[in-house]
Amino acid sequence: MRPAIFFDCDGVLNEEPGGHGVLGPDDVRLIPGAGEAVRASHEAGYLAIIVTNRAQVAKGFVTLAGLETIFARVRELLAQDGGLVDAIYFCPHHPERGRPGGAPDFQIACECRKPGTLLFRRAIADFGIDLGRSVLIGDSLRDIGAGRAMGLKTYGVRTGFACRDVERYPDQAPPVPDRMFADVGAAVAFCLAPAEHGQAGGPD
Ligand SMILES: [Mg+2]
Ligand SMILES: [Zn+2]
Repeated sequence: MRPAIFFDCDGVLNEEPGGHGVLGPDDVRLIPGAGEAVRASHEAGYLAIIVTNRAQVAKGFVTLAGLETIFARVRELLAQDGGLVDAIYFCPHHPERGRPGGAPDFQIACECRKPGTLLFRRAIADFGIDLGRSVLIGDSLRDIGAGRAMGLKTYGVRTGFACRDVERYPDQAPPVPDRMFADVGAAVAFCLAPAEHGQAGGPD
């Protein structure tokens, strides 16, 4: 079984534009070093898997076909720096019902929207992943919460929401990342470093 690095997408691999988020391929701007980070993950034997909430579908801002053009652009830009993504798992849902202009089929409370864990469980079913050696890298506390629920090491980045979205947890203590890094490049470099950090290093 191979370990995986689970990457959130917006705010980790590409810029988080704020507002309604990434609505088309022209909104995709890579965070510097993201393609190299994905490439390095692969070269070290990790699966590179994107797990991403795409509530824009439920809200009617993006169609599933539009989402494919966005993901194609993400893959294309990462590949320009040698970064090959093994799979992208996305949640198109949002629990708010009846939103004007929204897509009712996707307005459901689901188990895949992070901090739900179904995207991760699908990836594990598809790839047979060694969870004990796997890592989540996210910019939102929702990512961190999902990673924690899966028992993954959770690394936050200071790009995107920078794991400062504590307002999502008004009634409970927010999840805390195991470590914080400047960006995805620094987080992956730490993952892949020999175990001199006192933390599990590469895949073996
Ligand atoms: Mg994000
Ligand atoms: Zn979902």
